[in-house]
This record gives sequence, structure tokens and C-alpha cells, in this order.
Amino acid sequence: MSTGDHDPRRQERRHERRHGDQMGTPRYLDPGDTVFSLWGRIIMARYRRIAAAATRHIIQRPLHIGVSARIFHPEAGAKGLRSKNLQYLEESIAQWVMSRDVLVFMIPTVNTDGLLHPSNIRLRDYARHLDGLVLQGGADVSPQSYAESPTRPEWSGDRARDMYELELLHEFVEAGKPVLGICRGCQLINVAFGGTLYQDIASDVPDAMAHVHDDYDRHRHEIAFPEGASLGRMLKMRSGQAMVNSIHHQAVKNLGRDMTVEARSVPDGMVEAIRYTKAPFVMGLQWHPEFHRAGGVELLDCTPILDNFLRVARETRF
Ligand code: MN
Repeated sequence: MSTGDHDPRRQERRHERRHGDQMGTPRYLDPGDTVFSLWGRIIMARYRRIAAAATRHIIQRPLHIGVSARIFHPEAGAKGLRSKNLQYLEESIAQWVMSRDVLVFMIPTVNTDGLLHPSNIRLRDYARHLDGLVLQGGADVSPQSYAESPTRPEWSGDRARDMYELELLHEFVEAGKPVLGICRGCQLINVAFGGTLYQDIASDVPDAMAHVHDDYDRHRHEIAFPEGASLGRMLKMRSGQAMVNSIHHQAVKNLGRDMTVEARSVPDGMVEAIRYTKAPFVMGLQWHPEFHRAGGVELLDCTPILDNFLRVARETRF
């Protein structure tokens, strides 16, 4: 019997293998395709898919903006809910930020020594997961926070809220994320970088005009933007003046380090806006932009400031 190459059954199997190899290279491929060119195309297709998903994530996922809490401290003898610590939002601030189609979250204080509900969550975790911070207006900054004692007991401010917001501000700045301070938030940013405040404008600067009035958010005055101020550029108001509301009896006195003045009241020259120059966006406004639309068309439209804040939030997301 003949064996080996002359075995017809073996020849048939070899023929099948060869034929099979030919079938393994699909006919739709270019005759010139090599393993390398195929791999190249597969990797490019995979890359395009990842890039498209990342673009969707960057462009389409709504921004998550944190707003610091106002704190209600219970008064002695209070009953019911008023005997509790309350943390809350004034609705206009949330609605102003939401008007640019972003999600708003109020950031509660964290109590790491909590006996009832211990938690490992820190304010740093909020800074990591949110895209930007708005510091709400509210109670006075405590003079203790800038190494002074209150000249009157009613000007002792809210030291507990200072501690919470100073840590929050620090964590967002550390994370490279933008911060917009409103009224008290503006003063707090100045204090955070070593600045000081007038405890009471009327007592400390007798020549100054009224920055607070019984009219509350209907009280207003003019502001001007110093030459070269980025706020003036942002608002496309290089030289002109603008009308803002004024609901504050404290104000920036000595500027903190690496801070610039972005707006002053007219004619008394009180600081009305500041910016920290060592970060992409850390700005404080002494007025309340969230009340402006309701206050009438003559009040400055601050949407460009909000949009700048949100654009930086978008850019610094990763
Ligand atoms: Mn003012």
C-alpha cells in the first residue's frame, strides 16, 4: 500500500485546509490588506467610539453646581423645627443658576464627629464630584475670621458658617474648580485670602453712601469697572457704569493676597467685586445678581458672568 503524500484522503484534507485558509480571508477585504493595516483600522474605530463618548460626556452631561447652605441656628426656647439647625437655599439663587440649564445641589455642612450619624464624607468629596461652587449670601462674616473682635455684639457674624464655607472654598480652589461668591460670599473670598472687612460701612466709613436700606433688593447704586478689569471685559462694559442692587452693611476693607478689584461703587468707591488672580475663576460680587431681573431692566444683566463661570466649570471638569 502506498502511504504519505500519495494517500488520496490526506491530499483531500490538505486541499480542504488550503481552501479553508482562503475562506478565512474574507473577499470583501482589499487584496492589499495586511494584518497591520487591519489592526490600524480596528484601533482607529475603537478610538473614534471612545472620543465620541467623551464628547457626549463633556458637551451633553449637564453641569453639577454646588451652592453653599445658609444656616439657621436655633434660638433659645424655640419650639418645633425652629429648635433644629436648618440649612437652606434662597430660591432665586438656585433658579438663576438653573436658568443656564445646569443642575444645582445645595451642599450641607458635614459633621465628622457626628455621634448620631457618623460619616466619612468630607467637603472635599463634594468638591471632587461637583463642577463649580456658588457661595450664597446671608449672615455677616465673623470678625474672628479675619483676626478682629466684633465692635458691637450684633456684628459678631456666623463663625460656624465661615468655617464651613472657608473649607468648601479651599477644596474647590484646590480642585481647580470655579467659585462665584455672592454678597457674603464675596467678603468670604477676600477673608479666605487674608483680607479684612469693614464690620459696618456706616460706622467705619461715614462718607460712604447707604449700601443697605429698608427697600431691601430694590435699593441700588451705580458701579464702575477699573481700567483693564476682566469683569468689565466679560460684560463688554469697558468704560461705562452699571446699576446694581445693594443689600450689605459690610464690605471689603483690605484686599487679600493675589486679589484684584473688579468693580467699585460710584461715587464712594467701595469694593463691589473682586477676583483671585491665581485661579481660572474665583470671583466675588458684592451685589445679588439673582435678584436683578425682578428688580427691573435698568439693573445690570449678569448672565455673562454666570456663563463665564459655567464655561470654566466645563473646561476644568477633568
Ligand atoms: Mn453696594
